[in-house]
Amino acid sequence: MISQTKLYAALVAFPAITLTMNAHAIDIQDGKALTVSTQTNATPAAKPSSADAALVSDAADDANALEPRTNAAEPPSIEPKSPVCSPVALAVGIEHFSYDEAFAEDLVWSGYGDKRHENKLIHKDVKQPLQDLVKAAAKDKVALYPSSMFRSVRAQDAIVKRKVRQKQSPKTIYHTSSPAGFSEHHTGYAVDFAPINANFAKTKGYQWLVNNAEKYGWQQTFTPEFSAQTGVSEESWHWRYVGDERGQALFAPRSCQTEEVLESELSD
Ligand SMILES: [Zn+2]
Repeated sequence: MISQTKLYAALVAFPAITLTMNAHAIDIQDGKALTVSTQTNATPAAKPSSADAALVSDAADDANALEPRTNAAEPPSIEPKSPVCSPVALAVGIEHFSYDEAFAEDLVWSGYGDKRHENKLIHKDVKQPLQDLVKAAAKDKVALYPSSMFRSVRAQDAIVKRKVRQKQSPKTIYHTSSPAGFSEHHTGYAVDFAPINANFAKTKGYQWLVNNAEKYGWQQTFTPEFSAQTGVSEESWHWRYVGDERGQALFAPRSCQTEEVLESELSD
């Protein structure tokens, strides 16, 4: 089997290939032919439960949906994923890292907003940490409004497709949006606080998070430093949970820059 680094290098060398979530097998022959197997599951995915079906998706306009992930066919993994970056974003100089969608059965209502909306769901292991964070802020008389938590690959796909229809350039799109399969929101471990725009940086809530979030296991993803490295726009409102083993693994530093960087990270 090839190393992750070689695989990554091959992916960078062939940016035109299409990566699909849950790709289980990738074959490289003589460094030339590159085939990505896109089989999603060895066994048919379980049908969504009626509760899932009741979810109102932001992506209702996108009928060609991926099925929700289910762990019927494979156990949950907290292993760091191979450092695969989005080829379409990399082609315009922007780094977006891949994330698996949370299993449907691991998603619960966050406790905030309308539970019928997909984006009000959160990974079950993050529900309490988010509530603890909000309560701690409230104790300091600071209001935090969790607004958007889980987002399916399907919903992200609809967002990107809408921007494509609006004739936005790939560079513009991937500066502010992740390609489907490359959003931290897929994991159920990320939250956007309202207002979801640049004004959030001016709120007491943001200042409180900057000073206190780390104590509760939360961190801002799209900081000025991260933006400088990846080309993704700054987002004061987007925070992720790194307070447990899975969060640590999901958000371990990754880079699309050089093989050397990757090798040093992989050997840690
Ligand atoms: Zn976000």
